[in-house]
Amino acid sequence: MAPTTPKTPKKVMPAKKLATPSTPGSPSPRIRKSQTEAPDLGTELTFILLGDGPKASRKTFVVHKNLLMTVSGFFAMGLTSSFKEAESGIFEMEEEDPDVFSIFIHWIYFNRLFTMKTSPSSATDEDSEEWDCLPRLYTLGERLDAPRFKDAVISATIEKVKESQVMPDNWATYVYQNTVAPCGLRRLIVDFHVFAHQGKLLKKGACPDADEPEGDFLQDAMARMVDAGHSVFTTAAQMPWANPCDYHEHGEEVCHLVEDSGVASLGSSSTLPSTPLRRSTRRTPHAASL
Ligand SMILES: [Zn+2]
Repeated sequence: MAPTTPKTPKKVMPAKKLATPSTPGSPSPRIRKSQTEAPDLGTELTFILLGDGPKASRKTFVVHKNLLMTVSGFFAMGLTSSFKEAESGIFEMEEEDPDVFSIFIHWIYFNRLFTMKTSPSSATDEDSEEWDCLPRLYTLGERLDAPRFKDAVISATIEKVKESQVMPDNWATYVYQNTVAPCGLRRLIVDFHVFAHQGKLLKKGACPDADEPEGDFLQDAMARMVDAGHSVFTTAAQMPWANPCDYHEHGEEVCHLVEDSGVASLGSSSTLPSTPLRRSTRRTPHAASL
């Protein structure tokens, strides 16, 4: 017998309205969305080749062109210009690290950063590879002109700091040399040094592996110290990164944290969704790489 089309279910009034369990500060993510919000994926694909050597041996990612153009100004410009990439749909990016780039590709499709070596429940502050990876993700976002991705990296960094109670103290030189002002990660690093380390590391130039202290960083840090005054030395000093939006670039536009969780509006930091942004690399879905 041929299957019949499911009928539209009739509205049924529940006999008794069940109490909805709710946890303050952790709104439930919405799964259903308006049809008009569905992204137009289109049918065109873009090929991104990473590393050097023969083309056949390079790490290659295949991404929906429309999606890529939505998240990255770099690709949007390359794919609509008169450059050969717009014609061929192929980008050769010899300088980019395939492992770091792979996290960006997964974020495009899944809105999560697969950066952790362990699952969130067994995470420790010993995950040094993730500490190394986060600033590299941010500078990749800078090169690709991908502001929402950079916002996600800021959120992930703050998530890790809150979980581990460890503040990175050796990012200043790398981040200052690979970003331009104004920059959310620059401000976050300055705040780590001013509010968490109370300026104690500034005399070292805040980067043990650098020959020279990073001048712009020291200038920003000293200005922030002056702004903050004595408040940073009190035990009740508030860590200013409670609300990641203070370091995001979205301005008046909807924050990625709100969109990811489906929360209607972001009234204050207490309404920020609590769904972990960072995910274990072991749970990385198989993306379209060749
Ligand atoms: Zn935000």
